[in-house]
Formats: sequence, C-alpha cells, structure tokens
Amino acid sequence: MEERYNPQAVEERWQRAWQEGGTFKVTEDASRPKYYCLEMFPYPSGRIHMGHVRNYAIGDVVSRYKRMQGFNVLHPMGWDSFGLPAENAAIKHNIHPSKWTLENIAFMRDKQLKRLGLSYDWDREIATCLPEYYRWNQWFFLKMYEKGLAYKKLSYVNWCPSCNTVLANEQVEDGLCWRCSSVVTHKELEQWFFRITAYAEELLSHCDKLTGWPERVLTMQRNWIGKSTGVEVDFTVEGTGEKLTIFTTRQDDEEGKCLWQEGGRFLPGTSNDFGGNSKAEYGPILANFYPAPNGQPQYIYENFHRTLPYNPCPAGENEDD
Ligand SMILES: [Zn+2]
Repeated sequence: MEERYNPQAVEERWQRAWQEGGTFKVTEDASRPKYYCLEMFPYPSGRIHMGHVRNYAIGDVVSRYKRMQGFNVLHPMGWDSFGLPAENAAIKHNIHPSKWTLENIAFMRDKQLKRLGLSYDWDREIATCLPEYYRWNQWFFLKMYEKGLAYKKLSYVNWCPSCNTVLANEQVEDGLCWRCSSVVTHKELEQWFFRITAYAEELLSHCDKLTGWPERVLTMQRNWIGKSTGVEVDFTVEGTGEKLTIFTTRQDDEEGKCLWQEGGRFLPGTSNDFGGNSKAEYGPILANFYPAPNGQPQYIYENFHRTLPYNPCPAGENEDD
C-alpha cells in the first residue's frame, strides 16, 4: 500500500471506473423515492473557481448521502450560457460568442468539474444557449403570450451608450456603468413584461407559509411581489417647501425615515416623468423605492434634491396594468 495519497493515480482511476460503470447514471425507477439535487448551473466564463468548488462539493455530499439512503437521485449539471458577458468577451477577443462559450464549457467540464469527481449524470448535461434547450423557453414564452401573461410596452431602462446595452440596477454603480464606467443614461424602450401581478395574491399568501426564512427576506419577497395596500402621506421638501405626496404601506416608519416599503408607486403622476434625465429631481426617492442590493432599507430623508441617478422600475416589478 502506498504511504502517500497520490491524487493523480487514485482519483483518475476511480473517476474512470465510475464513468465506465455508469455509476451516476440515472434512469426512471418507480420503485424508489425520487430526489432532485440541483446546485446551480455555472456561467461558462472560462474557469471554475473555488466558489464553484464549495457550492458543488456541498451538493455532491447531499446527493451521495441521499443515494446511500436509497433515493433515486437526479443530480444534473449544465451551463447558464446565454448572456451579455459572452457577447462582451466575444467583442473583446474578436471571437464568435458561440465558439468562446462552447470552448469554455468544454474546459470547465473536462479539465475541471470532471476532475473533482462530482457525481453528475453527464448524459443529462444541458447548455441554455443550445436550441435543444431554449426551444422550451420559447415554448413557455409563447404559452404565456397566448394567455396574456407576456406583453409589450414602453418603459424607461438604464442605458449605457458605450456598451450599447440595457443595464440592471445592480450594474449601475454611482451612476456609472459597472463595465466601462460611462455615465448611465435613461432610455425609453419597448420591452417585454410579465404580468406577475396576476399571481400577486397567490404568491403573497404563500409567503406566509414559508418557515425558517428571516423576516427581512420575506419582506423583500413581499415587496417584490408588489401588491400594495397603503396610504398616501405628504412630505415637505427641504429648502423649497414643496409638498410631495408619497404612497406607502409603512406609514408607521416615516418618522424613522425608513421609506423602503411594500410595493406600489409613491410618486403619483411622476413615475415616468424623467425626460431621459439621469439626474432626475426625484432621483433619491425612487432610488430608495427598492431595497438596496444588500437588502438593507435605504433612507430618503435628508435631501430630496440630491441629484442621484434614479433606478427605474425593474422590468416586470410592480406593474399592475
Ligand atoms: Zn458600459
């Protein structure tokens, strides 16, 4: 017996044996209870990093444990491979996004994930950029469209004139594009929306059934669902004395300056009144309408006229028409 553990010899041997023996292959089996373990699909940005390793090692432990308990475990792996990063990398390296993406997938799968010995059924691998997969996204979309749950309308978006693309709120840092540091503007574009409010009641009632979640997370979830019942409250703008009417479901908190609240617009008649100006007068208020990415409430008290870029309503949120 070897005195030292030699990963090259031991792991490659056993990984080959698992592959040849189809150890982790999954087929339907009505006689055993099912267990589905999906960690997440990595974005094929080029290399698996230690964050991935931690995540997939935990899922692998769960899968193996459940398998030993007699469950028929489906533990799939795939690639979240559509997206802006692929396009930007393609532009940067002057390479077709498909080539860049598929080469990254091959490296991350064969040279990295497989060497970790994770218990995936690689026969079930998917990549979201391939037609065999996304035809189903399209099918779902068409079904939603037929039911009136997907619709088009004009709306303001964060726009980077240099990247020539829409940015999510999280991609705007201090009013600048996170990628190229250009000043982010606002642009009215026709966009697709999902009528998520059709399910607001159902989603809200199910929030009450979620146990074990911090109240802060549940509140964010309720905010996001966007069904609102509340009151209008008048504020006086510092410096000008102008009256500003806001809508809130959390009138008890106004004194404590906390105006992040549970959905609904609180600037009647002004929500679209920005004229493409990134320094909208009401910026700070709208910027605080949504919880910050870190989930902390934001405060809008001190200075309504501070000129900050506003965060327009993210697509689909709080749309009640
Ligand atoms: Zn940019």
